[in-house]
Amino acid sequence: MECIFCNIAERKSEAEIVFEDDSIISFLDIQPINYGHALVIPKKHFDNFLTIPPEELIHLINATQYIAGAVKRSVNADGFNIISNNGDSAGQTIYHFHFHIIPRFNEDFNFKPKFKNYKTGDIKNYADGIRSAVLKYKDIYNG
Ligand code: 5GP
Ligand code: ZN
Repeated sequence: MECIFCNIAERKSEAEIVFEDDSIISFLDIQPINYGHALVIPKKHFDNFLTIPPEELIHLINATQYIAGAVKRSVNADGFNIISNNGDSAGQTIYHFHFHIIPRFNEDFNFKPKFKNYKTGDIKNYADGIRSAVLKYKDIYNG
């Protein structure tokens, strides 16, 4: 299937590339939330955060930290968001895994969702469910 981010990584499509090495490439988002909004992708295609292999992810995160510092300094941002959207419901539109680096400025806009409150006892039920899932898939953890 045609993937625009694979095409950018292979230099078949144009992008404003700001950094690359053997396995990752970073370029500016064409529709920025703030100017300087950058994306960091593995050159190899993985659909999302759950399917990228851990070694590739570690390298991508290190590169993202490095590029985030450069973005922040270059646009003189007060802060930044590192975001990864996974799945339609989370706003993923390109199914080639990537991190967003979004420079932020004091009082530029409000990014906060409406928070929920747990009903009495519910927080433990949610934690129990997640603890069981964590144990069930323990063999894939290599931390
Ligand atoms: P997602 O919604 O999957 O988290 O993020 C995909 C991002 O890729 C969006 O913010 C979108 O603006 C950006 N994008 C989509 N197509 C292109 C493109 O052809 N070139 C560049 N540079 N960015 C793109
Ligand atoms: Zn791809």
